[in-house]
Amino acid sequence: MADYDYDLLTIGAGSGGVRASRMSAFFGAKVAVAEELYLGGTCVNVGCIPKKLLVYASHYAEDFADAASYGWTASEPRLDWAKLIANKNREIARLNGVYRKILGDAGVDILDGHAEILDAHTVALDGRRISAKYILVAVGSWPVVPKFPGSEYAITSNEAFYLPSLPKSVVIVGGGYIGVEFAGIFHGLGTRTIQLYRGESFLRGFDDDIRTTLAAEMLKRGIDLRFNADISTIEKRGDALFATLTDGGAIEADQILYATGRVPKTLNLGLERAGVKIETSGAVIVDEYSKSSVDSIYAIGDCTDRMMLTPVAIAEGMAVANTLFNDKPMRPEYLNVPTAVFSAPNCATVGLTEEQARQANFQVDIYKTSFKPLRHTLTGRDERTMMKLVVERMTDQVLGCHMVGPDAGEIIQGLAVALNCGATKAQFDTTVGIHPTAAEEFVTMRTRTA
Ligand SMILES: Cc1cc2nc3c(=O)[nH]c(=O)nc-3n(C[C@H](O)[C@H](O)[C@H](O)COP(=O)(O)OP(=O)(O)OC[C@H]3O[C@@H](n4cnc5c(N)ncnc54)[C@H](O)[C@@H]3O)c2cc1C
Repeated sequence: MADYDYDLLTIGAGSGGVRASRMSAFFGAKVAVAEELYLGGTCVNVGCIPKKLLVYASHYAEDFADAASYGWTASEPRLDWAKLIANKNREIARLNGVYRKILGDAGVDILDGHAEILDAHTVALDGRRISAKYILVAVGSWPVVPKFPGSEYAITSNEAFYLPSLPKSVVIVGGGYIGVEFAGIFHGLGTRTIQLYRGESFLRGFDDDIRTTLAAEMLKRGIDLRFNADISTIEKRGDALFATLTDGGAIEADQILYATGRVPKTLNLGLERAGVKIETSGAVIVDEYSKSSVDSIYAIGDCTDRMMLTPVAIAEGMAVANTLFNDKPMRPEYLNVPTAVFSAPNCATVGLTEEQARQANFQVDIYKTSFKPLRHTLTGRDERTMMKLVVERMTDQVLGCHMVGPDAGEIIQGLAVALNCGATKAQFDTTVGIHPTAAEEFVTMRTRTA
């Protein structure tokens, strides 16, 4: 060990890098983590946390409106965007401090600056050479806007979190979860919102019933959701942006947000120089233990081609720490990873979609329900909640749970435990529900729909 400055040098203090560094230090390793932008990475600064805070903010408009049906009167609500963003920024600054403290308390050295790999055991950081027995690449990903005339006027989610004022109108391009979530956020905050997606239906990879239910609910709310639609050029005229669509149409908006993809932040990181193999996308190629093609270099999180989710990056970081410094080689588990989309309304899912189950040649029974949430019996709001179970006919095992509706993520998280335990439909059926909740529908669905 004495030959190296550190046992582990992590590049990137985001979700994965922080967990791997802390746990490695806990197991007795001498650890440093290099960070060029912000402690906590994407999730804390321009991802999950500020996104969820804006999602909360966006719900109030509906809550104020619905309150009247429950007997409340209040003065006309008004959003102070500058205050919302300032409060959000204050919370993020607090979290940055929390991360600095937990790393410090764990005995991890924080090296502020841009790190570049020089060879299998050496990293350059602002003119310094630092050596380590192992290097962990945890550099995350970065949003990209495709190049086309006027693309420089488009913003990404990074900028959306810091807009100086709330746009009166926004066009969101992209059909992944980030685009869908921002459509809900802006619409809820009062911005005229158009979402464009070039494919037939958004949220590729989610169960079709989630995709169709959510699209219908978003349209009902007034989000102008357009499939088979894309932008070919953007022009700036004064303060407004004019987008020409590929079908010849045109839209004027204050902001155009591209949420069409993120790429691993591995450009000019020195990976190739050190002999690390990468995909054409820039993703580091790793084995099941997150080891790259170079024995001393590991990679985790968004910069590898796995699942771009915070808990997954954390699990991968945890596994690397155990593998390298706790004598417990560990492979992260990707089966039954639950996930939520904080759209309006929320969606969440765990396990196989109906399509995936059928493609895997399972004979499946489908249980599905759609109902008006109790809360809206008084408000009269035309909103439906959808729940679906995919069950293997032979074994009765529940292979997938899918939901669109309020608090979907909170509900599906619990069901993910049941799926991990291999729960059967009969076990769901004998579980007593909590009444009156939406969640109880998951244990009271009796009629097969397919
Ligand atoms: C808008 C948005 C919403 C999201 N919402 C959710 C959600 O609700 N739930 C969820 O699970 N996931 C969500 N995600 C995804 C989640 O944020 C990422 O999957 C997660 O942050 C990946 O963690 P990571 O450790 O791989 O990388 P990151 O958290 O991105 O951390 C990488 C760090 O490395 C640093 N870095 C990069 N290069 C260098 C270098 N050369 N030298 C020094 N430092 C460097 C970066 O500055 C960064 O801090 C969201 C993402 C976005 C963009």
